[in-house]
Amino acid sequence: MDFSIYQSVEMFCPNCGHKITGYLSEDGALRIMCDRCKVVIYSKRKNVKEFNIKVTNPYAIKGVG
Ligand SMILES: [Zn+2]
Repeated sequence: MDFSIYQSVEMFCPNCGHKITGYLSEDGALRIMCDRCKVVIYSKRKNVKEFNIKVTNPYAIKGVG
């Protein structure tokens, strides 16, 4: 098995700006959990130019805001 296909990706958390590192899987999907604010970032490449990025916060407090 060739692990060199798993490319590391550095990005800043869209929620708190903390620098986080994740790994691209072979299908181009990326899952990272921010170790500061605990949001989960899911990124999927749509085509060469476009990425879909979804941010979820499993620890969000309901009813606030
Ligand atoms: Zn964060």
